[in-house]
Amino acid sequence: MPEHTLLEVTDLVKHFPVGGGLLSKPTSWVKAVDGVSFHVAKGESFGLVGESGCGKTTLGRLVMRLLDPTAGTVKLDGKDITHLSRSALRPLRQQMQIIFQDPFSSLDPRMKVEAIVTEPLRAYDRIPRGQRREKAVALLEKVGLRAGDMDKYPHEFSGGQRQRIGIARSLCVRPKLIVADEPVSALDVSIQAQVINLLDDLRVEFGLSYVFISHDLSVVEYMCDRIAVMYLGGIVETAPADVFSVNSRHPYTRALLAAVPLPDPQGQVPPAPLDGDVPSPIDPPAGCAFHTRCPYVHERCRIERPVLAKTGERHWVACWLNAGAGFSV
Ligand code: SF4
Repeated sequence: MPEHTLLEVTDLVKHFPVGGGLLSKPTSWVKAVDGVSFHVAKGESFGLVGESGCGKTTLGRLVMRLLDPTAGTVKLDGKDITHLSRSALRPLRQQMQIIFQDPFSSLDPRMKVEAIVTEPLRAYDRIPRGQRREKAVALLEKVGLRAGDMDKYPHEFSGGQRQRIGIARSLCVRPKLIVADEPVSALDVSIQAQVINLLDDLRVEFGLSYVFISHDLSVVEYMCDRIAVMYLGGIVETAPADVFSVNSRHPYTRALLAAVPLPDPQGQVPPAPLDGDVPSPIDPPAGCAFHTRCPYVHERCRIERPVLAKTGERHWVACWLNAGAGFSV
């Protein structure tokens, strides 16, 4: 692992019980995250992309320790935080913050903006109120709002402005890592680009690392240095963003890319047809989880699960076609 690694996730698993009760065992398990490993370097923006239900949001919450994993480890700046108690986690929470998808429900409607933005400061940093207010004003201005907005309530703002308030709140304790969970998907298209550019600028200015979660590959390609594609609780391909659009190898990635509209239709990636829906994570297919929808499925795919194998500089793919003499789709 490189020395400048900030976040290191190893073989992370989260299975949720289904059915059962106080005295009976669960009837089955939802395998939301099923053996995921990745790392994020200091200052890097790492994208997690996949369809709804692929486990990316659960993975983000595991990284933040908002959920306890079933197995695996999470290290922040070299420190294993996987099993830390709430009190032991408290000082570390300053170093990692989350931006939620929905700017309408993630802000308490009864709190004024000043109280919202300074909430993490009150929790982690015991500085006088005057200084907290000064800090909050500076952050509000940094995200494109005004000092006069401090005394307003969330309902007085648009969706994009509310997301800016959420971003200011996450920055106020000077975190090293931000998990941004679909931060623009609830916003109007016209506002999305503004918030994405703001996040990009803030990364440079504050030296932040991002785990940027989205179902939208075009947003992730724009925002991130490296991207991991998730399918049914596992990573199927990871590569630098600039490699992705020209040399992706996994049939699922290629199907996602083919679904991204391009201004020049001549340059469109040839579509890899995708049949059917994502299978249930309660009973995922044996072998390669993607085999029920893959146009290139062969016998081995139905029996053996492919693991990530290196195919280029920082480029890893979990597909049997890639493990053999060559790959072409
Ligand atoms: Fe398709 Fe087989 Fe590759 Fe899975 S391992 S993506 S089923 S070709």
